[in-house]
Amino acid sequence: MCSSQDEARWRQGGCHCGAVRYEVECPDGVEVSSCNCSICTMTGYLHLIVERQRFRLTAGESNLAAYTFNTGTAKHLFCRTCGVKSFYIPRSHPDGVSVNYRCLDDDPLCSARITPFDGRNWEHSIESLRPSASQDGH
Ligand SMILES: [Zn+2]
Repeated sequence: MCSSQDEARWRQGGCHCGAVRYEVECPDGVEVSSCNCSICTMTGYLHLIVERQRFRLTAGESNLAAYTFNTGTAKHLFCRTCGVKSFYIPRSHPDGVSVNYRCLDDDPLCSARITPFDGRNWEHSIESLRPSASQDGH
């Protein structure tokens, strides 16, 4: 269902074969980012980044394979069976989780706002994402 409410709710998602299942809490109309870095370009990944407590892996932990490259901070997690990367630990938020918005069960693209993220120039782009210097050390 498409709605314009901004209330956060728990949604279910997972990989293609169903081995990996999770729940994530987010509002409708949430902002997701489309990244142009080397790996996201190939996979068409749409990032929904949440704090760790807003994500619950409900099935398939033992079915995940990890892939790392470059700095090794990001843990790209794939289903061993179907190869779908339905969520992972992102370099930008190593204490959080990036959920692939395309992997949510309920018509996920009808309400999200997709914003581009220039992952090819990661170091520069991440600075512009961070709150300005007036923040108190969050
Ligand atoms: Zn799978």
